[in-house]
Amino acid sequence: MPIRCTSCKENLLSEDNFTKFPCPDCLKSEITRCMKCRRKNNIYTCPSCGFEGP
Ligand SMILES: [Zn+2]
Ligand SMILES: [Zn+2]
Repeated sequence: MPIRCTSCKENLLSEDNFTKFPCPDCLKSEITRCMKCRRKNNIYTCPSCGFEGP
């Protein structure tokens, strides 16, 4: 299963510099973010509940 950045949809399989954490709102979905999006503080949207966070 491909791992994709929740913010930019970049494939992260070749990257090991990303973070993975459960959605802080519903805790059901895993949010993955690449280093680029973390640095830019890109918004992510939870696919389950639509929660948006920086
Ligand atoms: Zn990204
Ligand atoms: Zn959520």
